[in-house]
Amino acid sequence: MKYILQIYTGFSDTSCYRAEEMIDRIRTITSRIRVDKIIIGWSREASVYRKLATFLHERGIQMLLWLPAFSEGIEGFRPDQAMDVFGKPVIGPESTEDQSFHFVCPSSGHNARIVTDTFEKHFSDCGFDGVFLDRIRSQSFETGISGVLSCACKRCRKSFSEKGVNIDEVRNLYEEQGDAFFDMASWPMNGEFVLEKLSAQRFFEAKEKIIAEAVIGLAGYFRSKGLIVGLDLFAPVISRFVGQNYLLIAKAADFIKPMLYRKTEAPAGIGYEYALFEKYAPGARSELKPVMDKDFLYSQLQAVKDLPCEQYPGIEINYDKDLVKTDAEYIRESLAAIRECGLDRAAMCWDIMQAPEAHIEAAAAIRGERHCRTAQKDG
Ligand SMILES: [Zn+2]
Repeated sequence: MKYILQIYTGFSDTSCYRAEEMIDRIRTITSRIRVDKIIIGWSREASVYRKLATFLHERGIQMLLWLPAFSEGIEGFRPDQAMDVFGKPVIGPESTEDQSFHFVCPSSGHNARIVTDTFEKHFSDCGFDGVFLDRIRSQSFETGISGVLSCACKRCRKSFSEKGVNIDEVRNLYEEQGDAFFDMASWPMNGEFVLEKLSAQRFFEAKEKIIAEAVIGLAGYFRSKGLIVGLDLFAPVISRFVGQNYLLIAKAADFIKPMLYRKTEAPAGIGYEYALFEKYAPGARSELKPVMDKDFLYSQLQAVKDLPCEQYPGIEINYDKDLVKTDAEYIRESLAAIRECGLDRAAMCWDIMQAPEAHIEAAAAIRGERHCRTAQKDG
């Protein structure tokens, strides 16, 4: 197995961790498992990254900047805000001390330039081998219907219209139908759901194209500079709500990291996001009732394993008593499932600095195991 390790250094000018602390941690982990990339960000303390780059490059490990795209900009930049189909700004949820989930317009060239300028201004001489683009999506049900039925600003409306979608029709349909707007004709585990109402369905398909165009543009910018590009994606089953179509965007990247977070009670947690769908569209007709067990994980792995770029299924390795109640057995089960599906890569998310020792131990123990089972489970 080859692993990516992820470290969150906060979003201020100063990193949460000293370079030496991170180097110690990485050294301990790499003595036990094979690591080929580190994803780290997005505080702006350049000297920390430079020290890390020297350490990592001597060991043949690539360092990628964890870079949020369509969300709150770095201080000093003023992004074009996202609007919903009702003509109102998409309001972000309450920001916590070190996280904010406020999303901005994906089709704005100005917003794309903020992302590239941020890289050039703060990170281009730190020794990064690539970027890992996060928040390449619309808001989710985190802020209710408004988040999912966005972005419909003037620019995006035009783009929707070019794709045959009239935003006023979409808004009228929701206002007439309420929850029934989201009635599902089918909702397969790969997330390519089909809504019964044609206008509703076409909205989501066009939104995927708008997000894909923006992601392909950003990825192209970084790749033209010789950088590798990774993408952070919602689990397939819920990705269509936020405009992520794996087939459309995987080809723009060197690798993808589907967030197969079965224990996370925060944005991108699969159960968490599904519960928000049920909360905001309780009357929507749907057969799907995802249970966060190992079979469910197989279904998600099956959906990504043949995509045209490398896949590093993302598993939470950190622990938090409220947000992510992982344990060693969960790590073992998840990594074993990845092996059993014929994949030989995984990403340890989203902060190895917060991972209990037992979790690292569980990953290290996977290495020598033999798995004969093939992916017959899902037929
Ligand atoms: Zn927009």
